[in-house]
Amino acid sequence: MHEVTGDLREAVFEYARTRLSYSPPPLDSPKAEVELQRLAGQTISESGMGGSAALELFSEVLAPSTISTDHPGYLSFIPSAPTEASKLFDLIVSASAIYGGSWMEGAGAVYAENQVIEWLVRETGLPKSAGGVFVQGGTVGNLSALVAARFNAEKNGGRKSNRWAFICSSEAHSSLKTAARVMDVDIIAAEVDESGRLTGKAVAAALQAAKDVDVFAIVATSGTTNFGIVDCLDEVGQVAKQNQIWFHVDGAYGLAGILAPSTRKLFAGVELADSFIVDPHKWLFAPFDACALVYRDPEIARLAHTQHGEYLETLTESGEWNPSDYAINLTRRPRGLPLWFSLATHGVAAYREAVETNCQLAREAAELIRHREDLELVREPMLSVVVFTKKNWKQADYDRWSAQLLEDQIAFVVPSSHGGKPNLRFAIVNPTTTIDTIREILDRIARD
Ligand SMILES: *Cc1c(COP(=O)(O)O)cnc(C)c1O
Repeated sequence: MHEVTGDLREAVFEYARTRLSYSPPPLDSPKAEVELQRLAGQTISESGMGGSAALELFSEVLAPSTISTDHPGYLSFIPSAPTEASKLFDLIVSASAIYGGSWMEGAGAVYAENQVIEWLVRETGLPKSAGGVFVQGGTVGNLSALVAARFNAEKNGGRKSNRWAFICSSEAHSSLKTAARVMDVDIIAAEVDESGRLTGKAVAAALQAAKDVDVFAIVATSGTTNFGIVDCLDEVGQVAKQNQIWFHVDGAYGLAGILAPSTRKLFAGVELADSFIVDPHKWLFAPFDACALVYRDPEIARLAHTQHGEYLETLTESGEWNPSDYAINLTRRPRGLPLWFSLATHGVAAYREAVETNCQLAREAAELIRHREDLELVREPMLSVVVFTKKNWKQADYDRWSAQLLEDQIAFVVPSSHGGKPNLRFAIVNPTTTIDTIREILDRIARD
């Protein structure tokens, strides 16, 4: 069972080769479960169906029932746009059976991942002694950072009230609510200013008003998911320092914007962070799934997260850098390697250029929208998210239009909303998305 025929191996490589060569890939669309039941049926049996049949089923039925998130017209949520180098290297990672949890087992891989972390530390201006780990996604990254933050607060005097709490803006990502629920702590939502940003003043006011709780962290977002708004990191970081509270920056989507010359200045203050996250699978052109989680003082995170067990002591007592010790994970794929390979191949300048191209396109899209009578820009884009409405459209209009756009295999743009009002939103992270893609979509709205 642990070997296949040479033919099947070649067929799988051929499939991968073909998928990698698409430009663009087919957009495709989901199907209802009953439909997949009808087309694919029961796929697991005692005797197996054989590799060619399973591969054919995947290529003919299952793959066309999944949306290609790297299609240039995929502009919903946060798309993905992995470089070819990063996708190719993901194949190598899969073929290599590397345990990425410990230095003892994965030294070479961990060294390369740490090179990427060190690069992020240089870009953000944290001290050289900062360090971290690649985890599955921003949700796990935020949770792991906040667990370290609470551990730190417990160590430094502990809790005086009945409850722990952290402060974040009302525009912060849903994963922070998940973190609060998992940790059984409270959230204090601070008001944002008229441009949607969390300010130092708002955080100071929230701290003042925080009665009967101990605040163990202040979370700023550097690139909100809905609008790409970067909080006033410098001000918020200063308030956190003054009050000796852990400062976490959630940059899952937007922190990559620090690479673009035109948006770099928005991130002033990120160097004050005690921890930050940025997802390579969002805007650093790497495949799913990876989140870089970085700590100013990794030793606090190590003490907070290291798992202990008789079967692990050889590892934990080694004194070496074990990625497992810095988040809520043990066994881990060295998921930073696809990004490492692509960065090593192309160099950082190519990344700066790609991120800048996306920001530039977002500004051009905003310009087009401003010039259309039927459309209204909700906010000026700060990074690469553009949000707008069509005059007089109701939710049902947006839904119907969006479904037709996918049905016609033009693009995937689902309605979003803000303040209870539906809107349309382009999240641009794909360098193969062009102004023509955007224009075609806008033309279809005008014709609708
Ligand atoms: C996407 C996102 C997250 C969650 O990241 P996942 O990788 O989807 O778990 C957290 N914060 C922000 C700001 C995000 O955009």
